[in-house]
Amino acid sequence: MLLKDPSLFHQAALVAGEWITADPSNAIEVNNPATGEIIGYVPKLGAAETRAAIEAARMAQKGWAARTAKERCAVLRKWFDLMIENKEDLARILTLEQGKPLAEATGEIVYGASFVEWFAEEGRRIYGDLIPGHQPDKRIMVMKQPIGVVAAITPWNFPNAMITRKAGPAFAAGCAMVLKPASQTPFSAIAIAILAERAGLPKGLFSVITGSAVAIGGEMTSNPVVRKLTFTGSTEIGTELYKQSAPTIKKLGLELGGNAPFIVFDDADLDAAVEGALIAKYRNNGQTCVCANRIYVQDAVYDAFAQKLATAVAKLKTGNGFDEGVILGPLIDKVALAKVEEHIADALGKGARILQGGKPHALGGTFFEATILTDVTKDMAVAREETFGPLAPLFRFKDEEDVIEQANDTEFGLASYFYAKDLARVFRVAEALEYGMVGVNTGLISTAEAPFGGVKLSGLGREGSKYGIEEFTEIKYVCLGGI
Ligand code: ADP
Repeated sequence: MLLKDPSLFHQAALVAGEWITADPSNAIEVNNPATGEIIGYVPKLGAAETRAAIEAARMAQKGWAARTAKERCAVLRKWFDLMIENKEDLARILTLEQGKPLAEATGEIVYGASFVEWFAEEGRRIYGDLIPGHQPDKRIMVMKQPIGVVAAITPWNFPNAMITRKAGPAFAAGCAMVLKPASQTPFSAIAIAILAERAGLPKGLFSVITGSAVAIGGEMTSNPVVRKLTFTGSTEIGTELYKQSAPTIKKLGLELGGNAPFIVFDDADLDAAVEGALIAKYRNNGQTCVCANRIYVQDAVYDAFAQKLATAVAKLKTGNGFDEGVILGPLIDKVALAKVEEHIADALGKGARILQGGKPHALGGTFFEATILTDVTKDMAVAREETFGPLAPLFRFKDEEDVIEQANDTEFGLASYFYAKDLARVFRVAEALEYGMVGVNTGLISTAEAPFGGVKLSGLGREGSKYGIEEFTEIKYVCLGGI
């Protein structure tokens, strides 16, 4: 891999301000999902290193919080600038370990950096309140203070942005962070930690610990110094972390699984809906928690939409993310591929039909054909579980009431999408969908300015936006008497 700055690819972890390089006898092997080749090693660390990082974070946080918001903002702004200056290298590292096409990886770096920029700005606007007192000689003052030491656990599907969306607001609010990145994609996390050091983030304020999820997660959740745990990943692990955090009553931010409906009403602009479906379904090869998982199309436009979608999907090129024109990379691993195959087999067994794709790609490995299934019904596994792959199941619906009931018939509630023109319908449906986010006539909703998050089993809290920084602060009420 050719990098302009080869030092950004570092086979090490950052613990309490010190770099620990990988010792091959006790290291995690990281593979390129497109080729299966080993790209490097990171140290296999555990509870002891996590404890040391938490202690260093506790020490460093005090001085960081004592700085003015403007001073913190200047460091974060530098960090943002360095991410943008090094975006090609960061994108190459990302594609190498995650597989997404280079253009998409570059998009993620810019998107990821935007959270650091946004929160650097927001950090200067964490306002308190002065409330009229309940007695003549009293005033009620409300101040917002950093929550303290934050632990973060992040997934492999957005190896950069899921970190900056947490670290940006944490540092801007005056917190410290101990991060465990996904073991499949640690190098992106390490590269941004190198840039954080260069930007002048104080030693020990940010640790990146690679290694055993159970050992690191166990220490993060049980250590009383950690006051907030922020996690992006599966609902299954999120539930476990929630339980483990109960004895120390931590504040939790959980961005968990989704089962996004994508609804096409008969008054929709079908070409726009196809374009939106391509982005909402096939972005990151279907491996995002906001990917359309169930596509509902109204009777009258079902066949036309299916045909248009099939024509568009046939043009999506699958391959190594470093190759020109590739839109769909490999799936992250064999387990991911098996899940897509299971969902297809289950649906076909219950009466669905293949309109497009349907099998592992001729390229082999974990490449899978972009797939469309028609005649999909609610008794199939795809209706209930997140596929996390390039499979678009098309359900048919009768009317608004019918589709809202089907769309809400899930334990998840992260993203949802619909295409319609009638204004009254737009409001009715947007209000009726039991989701944290609704995209109306768009398949792409994530941005630093907006609150990202889910309801039901999709999680707790919001990331991004003016709300996102609140998650990293505590409210303190000061009662002023004798006035
Ligand atoms: P995904 O389906 O995205 O791989 P997971 O929930 O399995 O989601 O993993 C997301 C992150 O959580 C990863 O960094 C993973 O290493 C970490 N993780 C997995 N199991 C645990 C655990 N028991 N405790 C703490 N972290 C965990």
